[in-house]
Amino acid sequence: MPGDTDTLIIGASAAGLATGACLKRVGQSFEIVEASSVVADSWRHHYDRLHLHTPKSSSALPGLDMPARWPRYPARDQVVQYLELYRRHHGLEPHYGQRVTRLERRDGSWVATTGEREWRSKNVVVATGAARRPVRPNWPGMDVFAGRVIHSSEYRNGEPWRGRPVLVVGFGNSACEQAIDLVERGAHPHLSVRSPVNVVPRDVLGMVPVLQLGIVMRHVPPGVADALAWPLIRLTVGDVTTVGLRKLPYGPNTQIARDRHIPLLDIGTMAQIRAGRIGVHGDIARFTETGVTFDDGTELDVDAVVLATGYRPALAEFLVDWETVCDDDGVPLASGRPTPLPGLFFCGQNVVGSGMLREIGIEARRLAKECVA
Ligand SMILES: Cc1cc2nc3c(=O)[nH]c(=O)nc-3n(C[C@H](O)[C@H](O)[C@H](O)COP(=O)(O)OP(=O)(O)OC[C@H]3O[C@@H](n4cnc5c(N)ncnc54)[C@H](O)[C@@H]3O)c2cc1C
Repeated sequence: MPGDTDTLIIGASAAGLATGACLKRVGQSFEIVEASSVVADSWRHHYDRLHLHTPKSSSALPGLDMPARWPRYPARDQVVQYLELYRRHHGLEPHYGQRVTRLERRDGSWVATTGEREWRSKNVVVATGAARRPVRPNWPGMDVFAGRVIHSSEYRNGEPWRGRPVLVVGFGNSACEQAIDLVERGAHPHLSVRSPVNVVPRDVLGMVPVLQLGIVMRHVPPGVADALAWPLIRLTVGDVTTVGLRKLPYGPNTQIARDRHIPLLDIGTMAQIRAGRIGVHGDIARFTETGVTFDDGTELDVDAVVLATGYRPALAEFLVDWETVCDDDGVPLASGRPTPLPGLFFCGQNVVGSGMLREIGIEARRLAKECVA
């Protein structure tokens, strides 16, 4: 039957390509199906200013380093270029234009449906990304707001808002880099920060990527890692409460383990906040015709609101038995490891402090062994 293979990989970006490369190395047959017409589709649509927040030394996938002449933190276009190079280097040939709309277990095999076609396999590696569907919260009054509301996934650059006030909702790495971009484009950005935060510098004393420390600290209990890191964070980031932010009562390592949230890896946002070029506000209570009212009653007129409010993996869109392998938020219970369903694996769903691309490489190597077992 066409499409029969040992392992079907769904998605041809970092996780799917890495899994394919590792399966090739162990000599197992596989096919990769990809919804779009290119590899690295998600990276092609990220905002212009984006660079990796993780150093290239720990962001390369199994079997191919990033070019030595590239900067420590490659640009978005270089990540796309790298993933194209990676595909060619490993001789991977994804089937493009194949969006899986249904994945189910039938008669002891996995059957994935793409359009009119069915792909039958012993194993399936779902590599469709942790950032699949943008989360767009709703607030009262949004319908009367006269400005634009976009998700951070739709943000390209701050050019349209030169000279104008913009509210970015969130305090993750995208929110904070997009706020910097708005400053650089001559706009007047503000951040709406609902929850207490942790901030760590991307580089310690401008030299050592904090991710390298994260890799070492992975072997230490999160609470202990936080206690060890605290003096350094205090020295480099300072007291975040002096600029109107609230500090989480636990540190960044505990935050990742407990909340599955990466703390802000600061690349200059804190300096812009301290310089008064980025405003900091609390949670939004409601929208008005001209802007927003925050929960402390203060008001802000803005031309646009950027929702940097995260993503969901959206596996329920095609995985029939998703409730068996995901938590209530639809996030897989296991990534890079066996799931309760035989032959079903996820790659790229683990939120870790040592970098997701690095983790994807580790998971892909492990899954290749699982798939031949
Ligand atoms: C803005 C941003 C910045 C980031 N920066 C970093 C960083 O600096 N360092 C780091 O380590 N990580 C970073 N990450 C995490 C990043 O998501 C991963 O590093 C990596 O890109 C994830 O790769 P992936 O293959 O799991 O998913 P994706 O890159 O999202 O790819 C999923 C692929 O699956 C395809 N697909 C989806 N659904 C289907 C379907 N039903 N059928 C067929 N194909 C499908 C998609 O078209 C896509 O090609 C960042 C993430 C974001 C959003």
